Amino acid sequence: MDARDIRAALPRWRQQLHAHAEEGWTEFWTTAHVAGILQDLGLSPRVGAEALDRTARMGLPSPQRLAAARRRASGEGADEALLHRMGDCTGAVVDLGPQAAPVALALRFDLDALPLTESHAPEHAPAAGGYASRHAGQCHACGHDAHAALGLGLAALLQSGPPLRQRVRLLFQPAEEGVRGAAAMLEQVRGVPRFLAVHIGLGLPTGTLATGATGLMASTKFDAVFSGRAAHAAKAPQQGRDALKGAATALLGLHDLPRYGDGENRIHVGELRGGGARNVVADRAVLRGETRAVTCEMADDLFARARDVLEGAAAMYGLGCRISVAGQAPAAASDADFAAFLAGLARSLRTEQGRPLFTQVREQTAMGASDDAAVFMRAVQAAGGKAAYAILGSDLEAGHHAPNFDIDEASLWPGLLWLEAVCRAVSSEGGGEG
Ligand SMILES: [Zn+2]
Ligand SMILES: [Zn+2]
Repeated sequence: MDARDIRAALPRWRQQLHAHAEEGWTEFWTTAHVAGILQDLGLSPRVGAEALDRTARMGLPSPQRLAAARRRASGEGADEALLHRMGDCTGAVVDLGPQAAPVALALRFDLDALPLTESHAPEHAPAAGGYASRHAGQCHACGHDAHAALGLGLAALLQSGPPLRQRVRLLFQPAEEGVRGAAAMLEQVRGVPRFLAVHIGLGLPTGTLATGATGLMASTKFDAVFSGRAAHAAKAPQQGRDALKGAATALLGLHDLPRYGDGENRIHVGELRGGGARNVVADRAVLRGETRAVTCEMADDLFARARDVLEGAAAMYGLGCRISVAGQAPAAASDADFAAFLAGLARSLRTEQGRPLFTQVREQTAMGASDDAAVFMRAVQAAGGKAAYAILGSDLEAGHHAPNFDIDEASLWPGLLWLEAVCRAVSSEGGGEG
């Protein structure tokens, strides 16, 4: 493929991935599609358990749901040989450049969609264009379809240009939503001196780029299962142990915890289900929530207090309470010198008409959210390397995680040219000081 073919393929790849939205750990069609394109480029991607540690997957859906998603992918034409290699495990990794050379840079592209039903309103471009999610209740409402397409475009551009001096590794990571997937791929950045993740949108307009986000918040995603005892709601309520009341009390208690005054922090319950009939004392309730904080210490303290609230509410109503962690990411910040190096490259790039490729390039921006790219960033930094989290501006139809979220595809090509420049520079020069 030459650059013109790749530029034309970029929105097409994005739209194909968009139509096949698959939530975390069920990205079977997505993984097979991505790996198939990489193979067509002459590359040798590793997929599923070849690329990640199956046993380190967090917040994994039931085996039945995984099997159903795999069957669906097969029914939608996913490559059977690739599905066979994947087994029950999604995700892919591919290396570009000389096998004998070290890996100079790893880049993370996430694959997953959200458990959300996409808008079918005619003003929503994917609906109007016929590529809205074909999977009810699953929707690319965070732009990870664009990320995966950028990863493919990057592989294609690097393959089509001059050979790389050192290797570049592309991680196609499952289950970013809920910060569940990165830990299972941690091995892929071991000994790698540079790491870069890119997210599209996040409030920045098309034409802009921020190369070094700071303040990625530590987050713990938790499930609490309250178990009580069912009873007749009129004849013998005293014999019941009401799991629904315990969970509802916990919900209010969690939101009532004091905020910390010395940095951003959040607590949120997004789901509460319990009971089954109006006239029966509920014997089971499930609460799903999350804590976030700008330092790991604050995050640990907040989650410890959240545990106290959950267990305390359960005790009030004589209930059992089982708390499990369904996802976890540390706090992280980009390295300023690496971000400056990345920004310098972005500023040096020109369009075919000779204008700057980006209208604005910032070295720093506050994140105000979480991403499990932080798992990779912290690992690379702890080993003496440098990491950055970049935001590629894109005009959005609606905010992230909204049913009518959509990106501006015009933002993709400049982002891709910058990523190619980054890979070529780091592969030959090392990528800044340190
Ligand atoms: Zn998201
Ligand atoms: Zn996202």
